[in-house]
Amino acid sequence: MELLKKRILQDGVVKDNDILKVDSFLNHQMDITLLNDIGREFKARFADNPITKILTIEASGIGIAAITAQYFGNAPVVFAKKTQSSNLDGALFTAPVHSFTKGVTYNVQVSQKFLTAQDTVLIVDDFLARGQALIGLIDIVRQSGATLAGCGIVIEKVYQGGGTLLRSRGIRIESLARIASLESGSVTFL
Ligand code: 5GP
Repeated sequence: MELLKKRILQDGVVKDNDILKVDSFLNHQMDITLLNDIGREFKARFADNPITKILTIEASGIGIAAITAQYFGNAPVVFAKKTQSSNLDGALFTAPVHSFTKGVTYNVQVSQKFLTAQDTVLIVDDFLARGQALIGLIDIVRQSGATLAGCGIVIEKVYQGGGTLLRSRGIRIESLARIASLESGSVTFL
């Protein structure tokens, strides 16, 4: 997606040769015009799939998923929660997700009320790096018996291998900007 790549080059900031900060337009301050373009692009790529739910993980995925859902007939958005909460009652689907950027493992949780075997799910997230977040979310979809249509990712850091691993398992991944390297503080697309 050329507009997104242009924006990453213009406003993205590389930290420690490995982390791309896009907080001025994607995951802290959010550019709603760009998020609409992203949602429209996910719809174009998954147009043939009868999506009934969009699944993401808090917090960065929520804004992207909510806008994307409007291009899928206002399909409900479900986000996996990272922390234990007394508000989260009843039976839960859970899966461990290790965050390399934060150095912690979360036991992410989704209420069993909100994903069923009748659902066709599109998973959406901001980044794909080593694939841990997606592996956890895919596990939750599998536990629910729902059908997984695939994963829509805004930025894939291809060199970190998560996309290769998941595609080798037969998972459909559509990423809108694919980064080959962040070396020397500059972004190189594939
Ligand atoms: P993975 O689970 O694929 O290893 O990493 C994906 C998750 O880590 C995303 O949900 C995202 O929040 C975070 N992440 C990984 N790499 C980056 C990065 O370069 N920049 C930002 N902002 N987040 C990242």
